[in-house]
Amino acid sequence: MSLRSRIIYSLLIIFFVSSQTVHAQVKPDTQAQERKALYLKTALLTDVPWNVLAGCDQYARNINALRLEKKNKNELISITFPKRVWAGPLNPDLNDENPKTIALFGGVGKDGNGDGHASLESPEDRLYTFAEQIVQSGPGEENIRIGLWNIYNRGKAVDLIEDFARLFDYATPAKLEQHAFPVPTNYNYDYASTWGAKRGWGGNRIHEGTDIFADYGTPVRATAYGVIELIGWNKYGGWRIGLRDLHGNYHYFAHLNGYAPGIHHNVITKPGQVIGYVGSSGYGPKGTMGKFPPHLHYGLYRDNGHAEYSVDPYPALRIWEQQANKNESK
Ligand SMILES: [Zn+2]
Repeated sequence: MSLRSRIIYSLLIIFFVSSQTVHAQVKPDTQAQERKALYLKTALLTDVPWNVLAGCDQYARNINALRLEKKNKNELISITFPKRVWAGPLNPDLNDENPKTIALFGGVGKDGNGDGHASLESPEDRLYTFAEQIVQSGPGEENIRIGLWNIYNRGKAVDLIEDFARLFDYATPAKLEQHAFPVPTNYNYDYASTWGAKRGWGGNRIHEGTDIFADYGTPVRATAYGVIELIGWNKYGGWRIGLRDLHGNYHYFAHLNGYAPGIHHNVITKPGQVIGYVGSSGYGPKGTMGKFPPHLHYGLYRDNGHAEYSVDPYPALRIWEQQANKNESK
């Protein structure tokens, strides 16, 4: 082989190898990677940070997951628009995909992937159209908040999306699905299914949670990757912590003896991380203790896009407990 053909030959190999790597990067093998690729691409086109787009999409996915009639729960992008909003309120063709006529009739639909169509079926077009709506209020963090507010008209939605955006920045989607049992399983503890039972203090309320009885000072652990939304005293729960996870679930820990170091408002927790200690605080003004035996009250609340409601945490607790026992016996 001549020197020249050897050079050409090695260049060809370099080209082949590098094109393989590039190819491997743009062809993600999981849905989560595919989603992130689309968030990043749309972020580049619109100047909305990728994790804000991920947060908005997660907010839509969480709500869809609670809708029984929703068929395709594994779609790539959950953000969508009503046909009339997409095509334009006065558009005679509700299935219109022509960006020009859509714009003419006041529709929002845009062509995000450059194929000449603004298609409601295309995840790229939907995400791009949504991002364009966010930036209508202008660039920068504060304007994005305003843009989100104008879309959702719900302060809670904007707060949740900001929490989700922070979580997406913090850990991979696979990690964000991990959970932990709220007390270490090698401590003495006991709990039963009592959600919905009547309870004594504070008027006509039902028991919105599970009581895990344990000794004073038993560590209390975060049950999920989450953002600490509330921390401090409340008259029912005493020293309590409220944690928001990626699915919009609010994990409520009450009657604590105190908080672990570094646990403050807006801190991100990992599942299993110690956040406080079992106590008997609550049922009165700040500092009230000992009105009942020490226990952790653990509650779980879900957000459906309009309101929050209590769900029975007992089945989840049983699963997390079994997982903990399996891992510790390894
Ligand atoms: Zn309780």
